[in-house]
Amino acid sequence: MSSIEQTLSIIKPDAVERNLSEEIKEIFKKNNFKIIKEKKIKIEKNEAEKFYQVHQSKPFYNDLCSYLSSGPIVVMVLERENAVSENRKIMGATDPKNAEEGTLRKKYGISIDKNSVHGSDSSENAKIEINFFFKD
Ligand code: UDP
Ligand code: MG
Repeated sequence: MSSIEQTLSIIKPDAVERNLSEEIKEIFKKNNFKIIKEKKIKIEKNEAEKFYQVHQSKPFYNDLCSYLSSGPIVVMVLERENAVSENRKIMGATDPKNAEEGTLRKKYGISIDKNSVHGSDSSENAKIEINFFFKD
């Protein structure tokens, strides 16, 4: 059964800063994702704290939120069949050291915190995250 789905993708500050946004968007398009919505924004730390609320008990939470709000990011709604899992495949493992060859994090990630991209981890969270950034 075909299941067209949407997911939220973020190009994180380390990648935007290195002007990798266009290159990364091309990779999504080549992998049959449609970029339905897109905006380049800079968020405040309190917004990053809300976005990453699920991680609030983690030791890396504070640094993670400082980092996501440290510079411009590109936020996108991506659409294709099985968008959530296909995006996670293309992204690769959280730590670029463990990411498979050819994945975005292997290619562009600098470290576990500066790992270039975010992607929703479930269909349910995708809806929540899309609504977080694109409320209209
Ligand atoms: N992170 C970190 N240190 C860790 C684990 C995660 O800095 O030990 C950061 C990393 O940038 C990651 C984000 O926190 O992308 C969210 O973590 P999650 O486990 O949700 O990884 P993801 O879903 O992004 O692969
Ligand atoms: Mg996650």
